[in-house]
Amino acid sequence: MSFEWDYVNVLTLLRLAGVPAYASERTARHPLVVVGGAVTFVNPEPLAPFADVIAAGEGEVLVPALDRAFKAASDRGDLLKLLASARGFYIPSFYEPQYGPEGRLSGYRASPGTDAPSPVRKAALKTTEAIDPPATGIFTPDTEFGSRFLVEVVRGCANLCRFCWAGYNYLPVRAFPTDRILELAERARRHSSKVGLVSIALCDHPDIERILTRLNEMGYSISPASLRLDDLTEPIVRTLRASGERTITIAPETGSDRLRRVINKTVTNDEILDRADLIFANGFENLKLYYMIGLPTETDDDLVAIRDMTLELRDRMLRHARPRGTIGRIIGSVNPLIPKPGTAYQWLPMESDANVDRKIKRLRSLTAGIDNVYFNIKSERHSYYQALLSLGDRRVAPVIAAAERNGQNWRAAVAESGIDADSYIFRDRSKDSVLPWDIIDGGMKDHFFRSEFDKGLREEWTLPPKRQKDNARLLPVLQ
Ligand code: SF4
Repeated sequence: MSFEWDYVNVLTLLRLAGVPAYASERTARHPLVVVGGAVTFVNPEPLAPFADVIAAGEGEVLVPALDRAFKAASDRGDLLKLLASARGFYIPSFYEPQYGPEGRLSGYRASPGTDAPSPVRKAALKTTEAIDPPATGIFTPDTEFGSRFLVEVVRGCANLCRFCWAGYNYLPVRAFPTDRILELAERARRHSSKVGLVSIALCDHPDIERILTRLNEMGYSISPASLRLDDLTEPIVRTLRASGERTITIAPETGSDRLRRVINKTVTNDEILDRADLIFANGFENLKLYYMIGLPTETDDDLVAIRDMTLELRDRMLRHARPRGTIGRIIGSVNPLIPKPGTAYQWLPMESDANVDRKIKRLRSLTAGIDNVYFNIKSERHSYYQALLSLGDRRVAPVIAAAERNGQNWRAAVAESGIDADSYIFRDRSKDSVLPWDIIDGGMKDHFFRSEFDKGLREEWTLPPKRQKDNARLLPVLQ
């Protein structure tokens, strides 16, 4: 499972297969339910009662270990014990959550006789140098990306944005071998003319220009999952345009340099505008922008800055588009910040509904009626339930089960379960001794996250290691 909204889908899948949803209702005759994927090392706790096994970390390490344990185990109980002693396997039924005053989680106690470790250490690849990149193996029109060849190019991102779970938890950055990426693409070409490059920071691959050039020569139209602004070079932009792309997606996150220092997004407005020139000068018509609201220290000036930044980007677009005679669009996508486990914001309460709602209205009025600019602003309620699934503990599981039964009426599901959802979402957790996701050790230390949070409040950047030497461009802003 990759995203919180998948949780109900998995329960539907179990129901349609005739498998009881809760692990406690299954017997040795039922299939073993193993949960893997990104959520297992964000916060697997809301899923814990549904899973026999949570495989925390990366599949390249976990799947062979699971296979070995299956072959060695004498029965299901033995299998669970074997897995509990292997790195990366969390057996929820082997742990008893402890609750203190006011129902706060105070720890996890391993059941006697299980030898279950606490915390469970995530399992991850140390290097991907000799590993085949994950790639589409079956082409079928019956899936979301049916006709597209997907291949992972590089895992991780070195930017250390303070809100970004993926950045912190897929470190270190590991590039897949260029030759294998290209060989697999060559082989898949007869099934597909579109390639999707999976990564959170595509340009962190040291060979990215060569990879794009070769894919273009093979006749692929290339979709990058994401592009980090500061790494966009002329050859990269040119090759993407030549492959048929007309839209580029970038993530300024906010409109002001000040707030970008708070969240550790290490680009400046000047650089963003500079890259926009590069993008439009190379023939791209549309620009998609990701922004967030509800960030720490955000003021009304920062909302106005989002509008101003977008207007300046629109100017750049028009300057290049007018001589061509085709004017594209700028599409702003705005999401309220959900503080995520495993980030510098993991203790932070989410901004109140009323504040987020006020900011959404303000931003809507600031950005209304601008020609060629469209804003898609997510409602605060959508984020509220996502935050509950993200920040919850095991007691949130009945909400997921109820939402699955009632067609995803989350309000009714929360009411039916009787939990206090607000206490998960709007409570400052900085004094909590234990957080629900502490059962998994993702490799990052709490004191690092706390110092990153404090640096953010001082509006200081933490520069990614690879940029610490050649960051002259950032120095004027840092001083
Ligand atoms: S640049 Fe993007 S992927 Fe990298 S840490 Fe920042 S938000 Fe995450």
